[in-house]
Amino acid sequence: MRELLEWGRATLKPSGSSSDAALLMAAAADAVSGKGVGHEKVRIISSNSSDLLDERAIDIYESYIMKRARHEPAAYIIGVKEFMGINFLVDGRVLIPRPDTETLVEEASAFIIGKGKSTLLDICTGSGCIAISLRLMCKCLKYAAASDLSLGALEAAKRNAQLNGASINFFQGDLFEGSIGTFDVITANPPYIPTSAIGSLPPNVKLYEPLNALDGGEDGLGFYRRIAAHAKSRLNKGGGMFLEIGFDQGEAVLDLLRGEGFKAHIKKDLSNLDRVACAFV
Ligand code: GLN
Repeated sequence: MRELLEWGRATLKPSGSSSDAALLMAAAADAVSGKGVGHEKVRIISSNSSDLLDERAIDIYESYIMKRARHEPAAYIIGVKEFMGINFLVDGRVLIPRPDTETLVEEASAFIIGKGKSTLLDICTGSGCIAISLRLMCKCLKYAAASDLSLGALEAAKRNAQLNGASINFFQGDLFEGSIGTFDVITANPPYIPTSAIGSLPPNVKLYEPLNALDGGEDGLGFYRRIAAHAKSRLNKGGGMFLEIGFDQGEAVLDLLRGEGFKAHIKKDLSNLDRVACAFV
């Protein structure tokens, strides 16, 4: 097995993803055992030799390595990504949840729990990772809604909500379209990469992740403009809005939000980069 792992690491070296070999080996063992992804990870990484992989698993492992060598993200290959300690099913219809977005969930959950807020709307929900984590973390929430323009994303998010036992009402629509009424808390991780920067994204993102979840228009701020303009009429008094932003968009998004009358500040992520715009009414 050690040799197989070494072969995988060497094959993945040119794509800079050698560290995924062990994960893909564990996932191949899981695919054959039928026990669900995540089962074998610890055993594979901690054992030097064993009979964990039978022939079928070795075939699967090799196919996984070849896909990863062509830059397909590991999360799409194995079909699952962990976020806030929760497993989310992912495929090419949704952006893969990023650790950066956990900062947004932590800020929003601290606000919801601290103030005992009871209603949430998550727009541009994608895999549903923000809405579902908040629904599960914040017992005081009585109602949660989530929307996306993409029907494929909505299907994925609904499945994730079901699998994780999170009760969420899903709506199809552009931003606030589809949902009705006002909410205590609004969250969003909208597309925010400027169109001209899409071509310079790493191949695992550019070739495999949904571009409509990434492309934020000419200056990357198009979604924030529309969100800032409409959010006030959808937030309850004393409510809060939490928007993920690009590392260099803090000032511009603060200006937009303050221009619409919000009190706003930026929260940095674990790499000390601007990551979440927090806005209050
Ligand atoms: N953080 C993502 C990336 O850099 C972008 C997410 C988004 O546009 N909402 O690939």
